[in-house]
Amino acid sequence: MAFAKPKLSPVTRIALGLVSLAVSIVLVLALFFGVMPDRIESARKVREVLSESIAQQVVVVLQASDPSRLDAVLQRALDGGNDLRSIGVRRAADGRVIAEAGAHQATWSAPQDGHTTLEAVVVPITADKIRWGDVEVAFTPVYPDSILGWLKYPPVATVLLIALLGFIAFYLYLRRVLEYLDPLAVIPERVRMAYDTFQEAVLVLDKQGRVVLANEAFRRLHPAATENLSGKAASSLAWLADRVPTVESRHPWFSAMQTKQPVTGIALELGQPNQEEALEVIMNCTPIEDGYGAARGCMVIFYDVTALHRTNRKLLQTLDQLAASKQEIEDKNKELEKLATRDPLTGCLNRRALFEAIEPIFRKAQDDSQELCCIMGDIDHFKSFNDRYGHSVGDQVIKAVARTIGSGLREGDLLCRYGGEEFCVFLPGLTTEQAAAITDRLRSQIEDEAGRSIRDQESLTITSSFGISSIRQGSATPELLIDLADQALYHSKKTGRNRVTIWSEAM
Ligand code: GH3
Ligand code: MG
Ligand code: MG
Repeated sequence: MAFAKPKLSPVTRIALGLVSLAVSIVLVLALFFGVMPDRIESARKVREVLSESIAQQVVVVLQASDPSRLDAVLQRALDGGNDLRSIGVRRAADGRVIAEAGAHQATWSAPQDGHTTLEAVVVPITADKIRWGDVEVAFTPVYPDSILGWLKYPPVATVLLIALLGFIAFYLYLRRVLEYLDPLAVIPERVRMAYDTFQEAVLVLDKQGRVVLANEAFRRLHPAATENLSGKAASSLAWLADRVPTVESRHPWFSAMQTKQPVTGIALELGQPNQEEALEVIMNCTPIEDGYGAARGCMVIFYDVTALHRTNRKLLQTLDQLAASKQEIEDKNKELEKLATRDPLTGCLNRRALFEAIEPIFRKAQDDSQELCCIMGDIDHFKSFNDRYGHSVGDQVIKAVARTIGSGLREGDLLCRYGGEEFCVFLPGLTTEQAAAITDRLRSQIEDEAGRSIRDQESLTITSSFGISSIRQGSATPELLIDLADQALYHSKKTGRNRVTIWSEAM
């Protein structure tokens, strides 16, 4: 069940209470000390005296035996009297009204039992102890007979005026006083000290965004924060407010109070005078609400994350360095691997790497009865290049031949510099005929092109001889397969060089 929210503010309610109290006191004083006059009693006396005097004037006129003047006398009395409504002179003998003022006959209502009342006074006129008639005087009622009449009735109007003016005065005074008694405005010293023990910087603002409390940690945020900030608008603290992002030129503490929702996670960089490093701070604004859900102020909390961010940055830096050295190690490892497995002059596999690599390939081909060919190649009369052009040209010849052979191979083929100017190639999956075709193409390529890539030496012709063996020819190990290819190579050398020979039993 939801309770209806009270509509009157505490100030209004207290002011109303005080006004009721003041009015009660006035009424009690009036009652006890007669400050309020007894209006009925005094009115009765005045009316009786007035009526008697009118009756006397009537008697005088009657005695003068001049009844024609009677109406004029009555009219004059009516005009002169204050609360008079009408006057009439009634003869007792026939009950007729012989003179009147103010439409007496039409409006007069005789008092019951002949008794005089406040509104109708009857004064008998006697002549020689015989009742001659009556002078009847009608008065207006003593008390008002309508709400408007009561409102205009002076005592009531006075009390109402006292109540109204009293309420306005009390309301204004209370509002002023309560501002000073505002729990937000006056924070007890022990509460301030409690806030000072907080690690986080805390700023308590009032509804207008003025500083009510700034704790010890807040004063450490900036040299300018050490002065007395009480009563200053937070938005006027340049060192802080200029760094705080605004929405429609409103600072987040105002947004928090207006929306009654916390505004959190605002990252600030508070620059410090004469210091390179700014303070890095996360700011949260939480509205402070009263019992009626109205925002009374805002609590702004600052978390110093400078050290955290510094550590984070260092960590990231270290991670970067780590990644860099990891890359360096990987590069070095690759280099080492290359050094360990490759021939430095040609980049081909060295013998150790060849045997390591061919072992599983050879076994698989054996197990699966797959083709595997081995080619041995040797540069013809290589010694003469050395002798004629020098060792450096000899090296270039070896490199050129290695390059030509390498460019004609597939991925998965193995090329090894087997000796000084000897190469060994393994071609998995190819028949002897296919291997022979490729080898012959390589041979003619070397003859046609390899010589052209030698610097300083034009028109060198390089030829080489090849021998081919196949796993199908019954070799049980890679070494035996190489040995057969070598025998075929020897055959190529013997039979004129610059040729390809497939090993056969007949050799
Ligand atoms: P053949 O046609 O019978 O193969 O004759 P060849 O001259 O090529 O054969 P031989 O084995 O007599 O000569 C090989 C020479 O290669 C011997 C050696 O001095 C030279 N040699 C070995 N390794 C290198 C090297 O790395 N660089 C150079 N420039 N020469 C090398
Ligand atoms: Mg040789
Ligand atoms: Mg040779």
